Amino acid sequence: MLIEDEKNFSRFVELELTHENYSVSVAYNGNDGLQLGMSEEWDIILLDLMLPGLDGIEVCKKLRENKKTPILMLTARDSVDERVRGLDCGADDYLSKPFAIEELLARIRAILRRQEDNKKEESRRLMVLDLEVNLDSREVWRDGEPVELTKREYDLLLAFMNNPNRVMSRELLLDTVWGFEAAVDTNVVDVYVRYLRNKIDRSKAKSYIQTLRGVGYVMKR
Ligand code: CA
Repeated sequence: MLIEDEKNFSRFVELELTHENYSVSVAYNGNDGLQLGMSEEWDIILLDLMLPGLDGIEVCKKLRENKKTPILMLTARDSVDERVRGLDCGADDYLSKPFAIEELLARIRAILRRQEDNKKEESRRLMVLDLEVNLDSREVWRDGEPVELTKREYDLLLAFMNNPNRVMSRELLLDTVWGFEAAVDTNVVDVYVRYLRNKIDRSKAKSYIQTLRGVGYVMKR
């Protein structure tokens, strides 16, 4: 998404990006840009610093209150002060005008690549409170201390960590963890929750997994 008030310039950038197979939406002032930026999940926002209405810094600050969308700030002047202000308000990178379109494209690719790496990094780890799971190695830590779990205990823990704050009935847990081979009684869930608690909890009083009598279990974030 591009927020840029100079029509010729924004048209030029839009055409170049479209040519590179990006789909681009454009806002021509700070207020519209902010609204558009909030309304959807953009891959990246190119934000001009000098805008009528809200300026780029204000738009950036307001976006950052709610969104993690990568922001590339376009500054008209090559002034250190402007660049610092841009980065301080939460922009991921900046580019001073005039710039070569190749440089803009390279910056965009770099930001999107970083974003992709961050996502991958996040998706391989699960955290609830001080419980942490590495989904690749199936290792589990509590407060940095490794915890040894059997396959079933690990699967059960994952069922809870994938659904924090959601009340899980015994039937749902049986379905999720034991699957189709579940010609077993739902009591087995209670047994395994007990095994799991013995391994992850410090004290009985403060279990990660809480019992809701007659309903099921819940792991609160
Ligand atoms: Ca401008």
